[in-house]
Amino acid sequence: MSGPDGLSDHAPVLTAHRAGLVGCRGCGRVWPRHTDVCGRCGARLAPPDRRSLQAVWAWWLAGLIFYIPANLWPMLRTQSFLGLAGNTEATILGGVVDLMHYGNYGIAAIVFVASIVVPIGKFVVIAWLARVAGKPASVEAAHTRLRALEAVEFIGRWSMIDVFVVAILSALVQLGFVASIHPGPAAVSFALSVAFTMLSALSFDPRLIWRGLPLRTRRDRTAE
Ligand SMILES: [Zn+2]
Repeated sequence: MSGPDGLSDHAPVLTAHRAGLVGCRGCGRVWPRHTDVCGRCGARLAPPDRRSLQAVWAWWLAGLIFYIPANLWPMLRTQSFLGLAGNTEATILGGVVDLMHYGNYGIAAIVFVASIVVPIGKFVVIAWLARVAGKPASVEAAHTRLRALEAVEFIGRWSMIDVFVVAILSALVQLGFVASIHPGPAAVSFALSVAFTMLSALSFDPRLIWRGLPLRTRRDRTAE
């Protein structure tokens, strides 16, 4: 098997760290080890270190803690006109069931995917990345880790879609038969959970992905 650059997918990779250099996370320029500040962009330079995973775990835990009330507390509060038909509160899952009950399968699917599938998937992927970071990996395994990190970072910007759905629902229902509809406390918890999970993914040092790769062998050097 060979990659797009014509090199074998199993070829060992020489990282900046192994070459005695430190790479800048801001602009990508490499500097001699023990340089403190990047001379090009001014970012602080630090070699990849598994200790930086503590920040990943801290934000991850904060995100998980806020994700629990986001599901247990009401996401939507509806108040009927003068309270004649009673007031109702709906959690995320309750809202999905209600939406399906009224035949809004498309919106129900968006809310379910955005508030249940994606957040739980992100927790699992970030936890897995932080667990295996810096541990031995084949080149293929390292690329799988990189793709997983890219997927989490890409999804991050779409995670607030659930909050937008609530906002749009509020606007729509204001014009309907119920007198008022408000975002419940779960909306705030959900937004905080998403923000903390994004910070967790941002705290992850992608350079740790390449730390676990095997060193170059003599056979590879003579082949050059
Ligand atoms: Zn730089």
